[in-house]
Amino acid sequence: MIEVTLLGTGSPIPDPDRAGPSTLVRAGGQMFLIDCGRGVLQRLAAVGAGAHQLSALLLTHLHSDHIADLGDVLITRWVSTFAPDAPPLPIIGPPGTAEVVDATLKAFGFDIGYRIAHHADLTGPPPVEVHEYTEGPVWEHDDVRIRVAPTDHRPVTPTIAFRIEHGGASVVAAGDTVPCPSLDALAAGAGALVHTVIRKDLIDLLAQQRIRDICDYHSSVQEAAATAARAGVGILILTHYVPAIAAGTEEQWRALAAAEFDRQIELGDDLHRVQVHPGMCVKPTG
Ligand SMILES: [Zn+2]
Ligand SMILES: [Zn+2]
Repeated sequence: MIEVTLLGTGSPIPDPDRAGPSTLVRAGGQMFLIDCGRGVLQRLAAVGAGAHQLSALLLTHLHSDHIADLGDVLITRWVSTFAPDAPPLPIIGPPGTAEVVDATLKAFGFDIGYRIAHHADLTGPPPVEVHEYTEGPVWEHDDVRIRVAPTDHRPVTPTIAFRIEHGGASVVAAGDTVPCPSLDALAAGAGALVHTVIRKDLIDLLAQQRIRDICDYHSSVQEAAATAARAGVGILILTHYVPAIAAGTEEQWRALAAAEFDRQIELGDDLHRVQVHPGMCVKPTG
C-alpha cells in the first residue's frame, strides 16, 4: 500500500488555510516529499513526521511556490538529524536543481556558519546529494521504485512528473502541466494520479492579465480528469487549487472532474490522506 497525504493544497497565492504545494508519499517504510511549498514542515509536523525522516526530496520543477521552503527543509533536516553517520539528503529534480540547492545553501551561509561554530557535532554544512533527471528510473531501494518523465509547463522547462511504485501499488505526481503524451505514458495504469488543477472558468473572469496568463500552462479540472481517464488510473487526487476551493463549492469541483473521469475522485484540504492499494488501475484507454 502507498499512502498519499496532501500536505499543502495551496498555490502561489497566500491562503490562511492552505500551505504551499507539497505532497507526502509513504511507501514501504520510506517517506518522500514531493515539492516543498510554504509551510510544508508545519504540515509535516501535523502528521507526526519531520524533515530528518525523509528518504528523499523530489522536485517537479523550480517555480517558487514549489520550492519556497527548500531552505527550511535543508536546514531543519540538518539540525534535527542526530545520527553522526546520517547519509546526505537525496534531492531529485529537473536540471537546474543543483544550482538552486547551492544558492539556497549560500543564502543560509551565515546561519550554517553560526551553527557549526556553536555545536561541536556539526562539522560541515547540510549534506545533500542532488540528482538531475528528465526521464527514466531515478530510485530503487527495498522494493520502492521511482521513475520520472517530462511534463509540459512551458515556458517553465524542464519539468518532471514522478511515478512511485511499491508492492504492486503505484502513484504518479504530475506537478504543474498541461495534458501531454509523456505524462499519459508515465501515468498509464497507475493506482492514483495526483494532479495540480486550475479553474479556468473562474480565472478567465479576472481583470488582471497577469493572473489570466496562468491558464495557459496549467491543466483545468476537466483536463486533469481527462488525463486520468486516458491513463486508466484508479484514483484521481486533485491539489494545488487555483483559486482556492471556496467554502461549499467542493462538489462543484468534483462534478467537473466526474464529467471526464468516472472512478474515485479525491479533493479536499491540507492533510487530506488517501490510501492507494495494489490493483486499483483500469486498462488505459489510449
Ligand atoms: Zn509551476
Ligand atoms: Zn505551481
